[in-house]
Amino acid sequence: MIPGARLILLGRQGAGKGTQCVRLSRHFVVPHISTGDMLRAAVREGTELGVMAKRVMDQGNLVGDDIMVGIVRERLSQPDTMGRGYILDGFPRTVPQAMALDEITAELPLDVVLDLDVPREMVLERLSARRVCRDCGTNYVANGSEKHPWICEVCGGDVMHRDDDTPEAIDHRLDLYEQQTSPLIEYYSEHGRLAVIDGLGHPDEVFRRLTASVDAARRPT
Ligand code: ADP
Ligand code: ZN
Repeated sequence: MIPGARLILLGRQGAGKGTQCVRLSRHFVVPHISTGDMLRAAVREGTELGVMAKRVMDQGNLVGDDIMVGIVRERLSQPDTMGRGYILDGFPRTVPQAMALDEITAELPLDVVLDLDVPREMVLERLSARRVCRDCGTNYVANGSEKHPWICEVCGGDVMHRDDDTPEAIDHRLDLYEQQTSPLIEYYSEHGRLAVIDGLGHPDEVFRRLTASVDAARRPT
């Protein structure tokens, strides 16, 4: 395995994207850049961005492209991402964001865009059971038998139900995914950098598929 990689992981909400991104970031030793986590951090800090983002997120809507591109542009100019690479989680989410990212990464292009494919019918249940650590963002799945309050195994923070994981907001986010984000699959397949990965099966097996396709994409031809 060669450390360092420049990756995007696309996929429907509830496909297991967050957890697989954390694993990929450890495997390739690159920062995991989750725009959702960055926005939630801004909400906790109560910054101007956070106050605006909270309103948008709680309704399941998307934060504006210009704001998101600005955040990612800034993050990708840091020494760690410039040097080792990154895995992007939750960005790009619209075609204009993808076009802006092409411009940002013109000198150091992406290795591969991974699409973690799980059908819509399969993700609803996973999303309503989803819990997340307020402090470090680790995802959990509730099975109804957990102790309250629930403490994060990774950092000791509080594990909570996300404010935007209501059935209405989830349904709306999945609609937005079909409308705004699924066109990215075509966008990247035209640019020849897309690998579609079957997201069904044991998480270890899905992880193996993901790393195999990154390795294949980076093999010198
Ligand atoms: P999910 O995958 O469940 O939608 P995320 O944690 O990726 O959750 O994002 C949570 C919310 O943050 C989104 O519903 C949206 O409001 C906002 N958000 C995150 N990334 C972006 C982005 N690239 N563009 C616009 N909004 C975003
Ligand atoms: Zn935690």
